[in-house]
Amino acid sequence: MTTGTCLCGAVRYEIDGPFSMMAICHCSMCRKEHGTQFATFVGAPLSGFRWLSGEDNITDYASSPSGHRYFCRTCGSPAPMLIPAMDMVVAPAGNLEQDPGIRPQMHLFVGSKAPGYVITDDLPQYDAYPPEWGGGGGVKRPTVTAPEGIVPGSCLCGGVAWEVTGKPSLMMNCHCSRCRRGRGAAHATNAFYKLDQFRWVRGEELTDSFKVPDAQFFTQHFCRVCGSPTPRVMEKFNRVLVPAGAFDADPGVQPTAHIFVAYKAPWFEITDDIPQFSEMMPR
Ligand SMILES: [Zn+2]
Ligand SMILES: [Zn+2]
Ligand SMILES: [Zn+2]
Repeated sequence: MTTGTCLCGAVRYEIDGPFSMMAICHCSMCRKEHGTQFATFVGAPLSGFRWLSGEDNITDYASSPSGHRYFCRTCGSPAPMLIPAMDMVVAPAGNLEQDPGIRPQMHLFVGSKAPGYVITDDLPQYDAYPPEWGGGGGVKRPTVTAPEGIVPGSCLCGGVAWEVTGKPSLMMNCHCSRCRRGRGAAHATNAFYKLDQFRWVRGEELTDSFKVPDAQFFTQHFCRVCGSPTPRVMEKFNRVLVPAGAFDADPGVQPTAHIFVAYKAPWFEITDDIPQFSEMMPR
């Protein structure tokens, strides 16, 4: 049996194994909803799924005519999707608290993966859904054109938008358990800009935040309408954290470090050659 939880702990559930599916999705909607360069999901028979708490703390956003995205209204963490028609529950793997036993089987929607992101494992790759799921699928997203030197970003519903100029001073993958729960993903990928490189375009008032009570700084900012992680402006440090999945154009850089690898998800294998640090990167 595997339990899952959101970042704030309000939403809790358990899933009996065995899990039937584990897939990595690169579609732009998952990237925005998780704020990461890709998302990983596990699937299991619906009969083995139980809410432990917080079912009423979940809200949803209709991301397409047939698809809904579910998230905790307090902390923004992605929540499981129940699909009775397929007798299946699909859960974001980053929220699981134990090793589900299963390992990623394939990459989906590689045709719309994050700009510049290179897949370094040898799992099968599909442009959209795999043939055994009927192939095809997906939703056409608007292409965003930006003036030279400006990289726009937005949440899944489009209500919150911002732009950055120039390159970030740092871009990192964080494997800590807070990032994994908050993003519902293998790890967070964040880019850090100086305050004067960042500007809200619209919707700052639609954002909400959740600070982990026993953390010194850890705060997740997200769009109240769609749950997508949004930038976190830290005036005191002259820094803005931008979730990598939200970029609408190529930020021109890739992560240069894996941090807090000591807390990495057991089901996720690092196959790239980006330097790894067991905790924070030494200054
Ligand atoms: Zn929560
Ligand atoms: Zn997806
Ligand atoms: Zn939104």
